[in-house]
Amino acid sequence: MTPDLMRDGAARRAAYEARMAAKRAAEGPPRGGFGRPLERLEPVFTQGVALYVEDLTVSFDGFKALNALSLTVDLGELRCIIGPNGAGKTTMMDCITGKTQPDAGRLSFGSNVDLLRLAEPQIAQIGIGRKFQKPTVYEQLTVFENLELSLKADRRPRANLFARLSAEQLDRLGELLALIHLKEHAQRTAGLLSHGQKQWLEIGMLLAQDPKLLLLDEPVAGMTDEETERTGELFLSLEGRHSLVVVEHDMAFVEQLTQGRRKVTCLHEGRVLAEGRLADLQADERVVEVYLGR
Ligand code: ADP
Ligand code: MG
Repeated sequence: MTPDLMRDGAARRAAYEARMAAKRAAEGPPRGGFGRPLERLEPVFTQGVALYVEDLTVSFDGFKALNALSLTVDLGELRCIIGPNGAGKTTMMDCITGKTQPDAGRLSFGSNVDLLRLAEPQIAQIGIGRKFQKPTVYEQLTVFENLELSLKADRRPRANLFARLSAEQLDRLGELLALIHLKEHAQRTAGLLSHGQKQWLEIGMLLAQDPKLLLLDEPVAGMTDEETERTGELFLSLEGRHSLVVVEHDMAFVEQLTQGRRKVTCLHEGRVLAEGRLADLQADERVVEVYLGR
């Protein structure tokens, strides 16, 4: 191809993208208000990639919290994200879950679902779950009831809040209770659980929805060492079945999760500073300078 043909092509593409962006902005995100069922979208994962983040940029009053951030997360992968405060880790999760609209860039779930066209509830419905730093469980209800509600709020169709749990759902509930180490506490009021146990309950509630991708923002903050280690075991047991993106400052925890071989991404100033095994990042001067050395 000649240079001017390439230039023309690039100009056409830019014009097309600008037109599509204007169209999206005019239409607004699709919604399923008044109890209308949300459109069902099926992500396609044949490339083995759960999430594509491409050139994502978010500005707050001219300050770029994300600056052309690009990364991908594989299907079933357990990925740790590290980086100094203000690096944009939480903002990235806000974009993926539809809480924040980026100024530019693309976000795709599987190879086909354009997340930037979806509203928050739809993003949850197609299989992206998120755990915030502060646990949000129903304090007045028991552990069992909390999980029961989440199971019934199943993102798949035919879920019914008023129906009794099916045998299959009861099995799943038992499985979840074991997974989050709360079997002996099933009938306890959630408000009486320790901070760590509440975090596990919330993770159990997210898992009840069977998300394909789970985003966890500093999940072990405030946990005891023992709780932290158990949480690590839990996450490791989820690998393969779910993709997990874990933002964490606790390096012992990151070590436990990566076991010397899984990939870690270090964000800095809204983009990827380095990516690789934790040992490689620990040996990377830039990472030490902005983060690990502090
Ligand atoms: P991290 O989670 O890596 O610590 P954040 O994504 O929370 O970083 O923040 C990235 C940068 O964006 C920070 O400088 C933060 O102050 C800024 N920021 C985040 N959210 C907002 C907002 N709603 N308004 C203005 N600035 C924000
Ligand atoms: Mg944060």
